[in-house]
Amino acid sequence: MLLQKRRKRYYKHEALARYAKLLGFGEVHERIDDKSGLHTIIAIHSTQLGPAIGGTRFFAYSSIGAAFKDVLRLSYMMTLKSAISNLPHGGAKAVIIKPNPIKDRELLFKAYGDFVHELNGRYITAIDVGTSNEDMGVIATRTPYVAGISTLDLKNDPSLYTARGVLQSMLAAVQFKMKRNSLAGLRVAIQGAGNVGRYLCDLLNQQGADIIITDLNTASAQHCSKAFHATVVGLDEIYEVPCDIFSPCALGGTINAETIPRLNCAMVIGSANNQLSHEKVIHLLEKKDILYVPDYLANSGGLINAAMVYDYQDIARAEEQIIQLFDSTLHLLERSHTENKSTTFIAHQIVKERLGYFKE
Ligand code: NAD
Repeated sequence: MLLQKRRKRYYKHEALARYAKLLGFGEVHERIDDKSGLHTIIAIHSTQLGPAIGGTRFFAYSSIGAAFKDVLRLSYMMTLKSAISNLPHGGAKAVIIKPNPIKDRELLFKAYGDFVHELNGRYITAIDVGTSNEDMGVIATRTPYVAGISTLDLKNDPSLYTARGVLQSMLAAVQFKMKRNSLAGLRVAIQGAGNVGRYLCDLLNQQGADIIITDLNTASAQHCSKAFHATVVGLDEIYEVPCDIFSPCALGGTINAETIPRLNCAMVIGSANNQLSHEKVIHLLEKKDILYVPDYLANSGGLINAAMVYDYQDIARAEEQIIQLFDSTLHLLERSHTENKSTTFIAHQIVKERLGYFKE
């Protein structure tokens, strides 16, 4: 029985190592420190374009295997995001398995900061789900390799910059597909009124767009209704709302074989990671003439801001680079049209060209 259990564990490790190989890793580092309660995994997918950058997720994973799988997948995504945004950085991500209870949060993040420091700058960390500006401040007492703590960046909320990037992708897509240079009067259906969704609502309202929104948390959706004149609809209803842009800003995988036939939009552009349940569903979107801006381009504003402020301590330069997401999106859409290839294929091509080599 014990032997069987050991074998099972061994095979799980084998499967994770195979997955890492499949994604083209890279380095994977694990630190377990009993004294502080730290159990972290830092996955550096690539340093080909420069030091790898990516947030630290603090989450109560159901198993260590689940934490490994998550960090590998997220880290790979950061390489795509960095490369397509033309940043001089590679992709990485870290997860800290949230202990229950957390005995001393400061001690835990200090120990984590020490571990980040040991990687000698090959990994630059930043805020992510479950971590706060305060946590980043604690890490910064142990290592300089942490982004998003600059006093220049007073708002210090990556979600705002992510929303600004999504807006630029929307503006470019509207110019490409509808020959319009504004979102005024267009209908945008947003799935998710969280951090990014709320900022996006604000920006779209300023643009004069007509906003429809849904969220599991009705209070969040109602807030957008009051503050930004959005119309609230049900969780399932959002898919069928007649609109120009459907914007997934909640979970991944909501664009799939079941939802695509129901979509009543001309474009899909949002902040959620892994919006397509599978790469192949892009063809279902194409059949309906729905234009899709790849998620890792549209949602790269937060990363661009963190990286540029870290590199140059220049918030204006970071903002300029986010505005350039307009050109990057337009370029991708034009290329997809000229080469008669899907937008996801072209996005991968651009990444490959920037990296010289990219394992798929
Ligand atoms: P968030 O957790 O603040 O917001 C997500 C919102 O979606 C929550 O309000 C939640 O209630 C809602 N939600 C969950 N399931 C839903 C469902 N089935 N239908 C409708 N609403 C649902 O997260 P966020 O920071 O706003 O990020 C949104 C998405 O964008 C996530 O997928 C995230 O990974 C991605 N993303 C965020 C950033 C960033 O800077 N925050 C950067 C890149 C990518």
